[in-house]
Amino acid sequence: MTKRLVFLGPPGVGKGTQAKRVAEEHGIPHISTGDILREEVRQETDLGKQAKSHMDSGGLVPDELVVAMVARRLEQDDCRDGYLLDGFPRTIGQAHAFENEIGGDDDPGVDKVLYFAAPDEVLIRRLGGRRTCPSCQAVYHVETMPPKEDNLCDRCGAELVQREDDQPDAIKQRLRTYRELTEELIGHYRQAGTLVEINSTGSVEQVAELVRRALAT
Ligand SMILES: [Zn+2]
Repeated sequence: MTKRLVFLGPPGVGKGTQAKRVAEEHGIPHISTGDILREEVRQETDLGKQAKSHMDSGGLVPDELVVAMVARRLEQDDCRDGYLLDGFPRTIGQAHAFENEIGGDDDPGVDKVLYFAAPDEVLIRRLGGRRTCPSCQAVYHVETMPPKEDNLCDRCGAELVQREDDQPDAIKQRLRTYRELTEELIGHYRQAGTLVEINSTGSVEQVAELVRRALAT
């Protein structure tokens, strides 16, 4: 049985943690476009060079290019029994391009899409509690993963900071942008009958149980 999964969800919803666990449990690769992109750029492939020229000029990497890189990744041997795409497709444009490239007639290239959802106030609390070490980049959370000594990095002792991105107004803007970008995408998968919404308000263990149940059927 192939397991072709897509995990979607706004920043702070915790889908990366769940994705890592599910990929291990099911023996399928955990694929994020960020990782693929970095790898293609590092290896200086044709696609990597094209992507880099867009990034260097401050633009976004076009959907067709992202999809071409994902398609190439999915040709590798470890994807034979399935794959878990983390945060891809990100837009309806990417979804359509992906379907043309990977799927076929009546095959969206995806068996199940898990959409991790939580109210904004939960996401704002999670993201707003994040503290980062400016020296070694370690990440902490004031509630769920505090440093041993107040506001100091466990690893290197530097004073922790709240990134610009994690300030309340910036978080609200990030969430707004995410919802605008994905609204149509979510609707698309809902209509296709592949979407399962996962209530991600609870603890990591509680969410993991919901994911288990969603993937069991
Ligand atoms: Zn540090």
